[in-house]
Amino acid sequence: MDIAVVGVGYVGLVSATCFAELGAHVHCVDVDARKIEQLNQGVIPIYEPGLEKMIARNVTAGRLRFGTEISKAMPKAEIVFIAVGTPSDEDGSADLSYVIEAARSIGRSMTRYTLVVTKSTVPVGSSEMVRKAVREELTRRRLDIDFDVASNPEFLKEGNAIDDFMKPDRVVVGVDSDKARELITSLYKPMLLNNFRVLFMDIPSAEMTKYAANAMLATRISFMNDVANLCERVGADVSMVRLGIGSDSRIGSKFLYPGCGYGGSCFPKDVKALIKTAADNGYRMEVLEAVESVNEKQKNVLFDKFSAYYNQDIQGKQAAIWGLSFKPGTDDMREAPSLVLIERLLEAGCRVRVYDPVAMQEAGARLGDRVEYATDMYDAVKGADALFHVTEWKEFRMPDWTAIHKAMATPLIIDGRNVYEVPSERGFVLLNIGSSSI
Ligand code: NAD
Repeated sequence: MDIAVVGVGYVGLVSATCFAELGAHVHCVDVDARKIEQLNQGVIPIYEPGLEKMIARNVTAGRLRFGTEISKAMPKAEIVFIAVGTPSDEDGSADLSYVIEAARSIGRSMTRYTLVVTKSTVPVGSSEMVRKAVREELTRRRLDIDFDVASNPEFLKEGNAIDDFMKPDRVVVGVDSDKARELITSLYKPMLLNNFRVLFMDIPSAEMTKYAANAMLATRISFMNDVANLCERVGADVSMVRLGIGSDSRIGSKFLYPGCGYGGSCFPKDVKALIKTAADNGYRMEVLEAVESVNEKQKNVLFDKFSAYYNQDIQGKQAAIWGLSFKPGTDDMREAPSLVLIERLLEAGCRVRVYDPVAMQEAGARLGDRVEYATDMYDAVKGADALFHVTEWKEFRMPDWTAIHKAMATPLIIDGRNVYEVPSERGFVLLNIGSSSI
């Protein structure tokens, strides 16, 4: 089967590569000529474990290619996926301009029946807007080509994207024609043969499923952060409480980890967009409003603990930051809690020295010379008055506390991921989320 993928970001590139791995011939298109040039030279613009090898294998096999012109992909493609970004607009709604422009570019070069599938996260009604945009372009060209639209939201997680795509809990597909259903079924056939479920439904329900899923996960995180903050005030330990409630099969143990707030390119914008969709339809999502405000507060918790420890006298103090990406396994720093912490530290007149196993380049582009860049995790803590553990990369899991003690000016560890037990006899102070109060 020949398909095209429009938008070669985290979702588009991983999806395209995985479809190629499953046997499809995939033509990837992006307006970013530099990105396409890099990909054609074998340079992968994002960090995602396992992706580079899989891309190389499928390019060599002739199943995966990259270009900037959709017109070269359309004559052969039976299915075209739209996987462009849908960032937050100023009012919190999803900015659909990239999706609509992608749909128009498809309409401008469609030559035969095509199924146009939206993989980007889009509010209910967006597939209809895609249909309208494609039709307008066809009408402008005085062509009456038959096409369908469908919704196939993506649930992969950065850092584990290939596994999530290849072994999904389920694939959600919204369709409104038999032909669309048949085409999607043949594309996902290898997964069906492996007993992964493809859930077909109407298009609005598929669009809503993606937002409801992300909103539910964000809710669990904010709920646990709220419980953690109360634990600190009443002398309970949230790690115990987490185990206690997570063992209840009605609750389950996933997504119950308190921390320093959720970030990334999805949860913040999708929660905002759902609140806005509700408002546009005369309804208030009160739970989600609270989820968002708890998260905003939580991104400040590490700074507040640091400041309280030093009785608000922190000007000139040196802070070491371990972890900059919004979660481990990715270099993505969009809406990362580390950025809020760093801004507050800089505003307070602190020196900030940062280290991340893969996001140093991204950090350099965002933070410039406002912070110092360490060569490794131990270099980061030299002379520090506090070490902030912000992103739970594996390499931070079992640090050499002796070396850290020797390097730090004050052995204060602020653990935003509740990973550490530190040897207290050496004079370490450990502050974490949900069990230590200050
Ligand atoms: P991204 O910003 O990494 O990539 C988007 C790409 O689209 C860019 O390369 C951009 O140049 C390209 N683009 C924009 N307009 C174009 C056009 N008209 N034609 C061709 N290319 C165009 O975005 P992402 O993180 O991959 O997210 C894409 C969508 O998937 C979003 O709706 C997001 O919410 C959703 N999603 C993301 C994730 C994730 O983990 N990142 C997971 C699930 C769903």
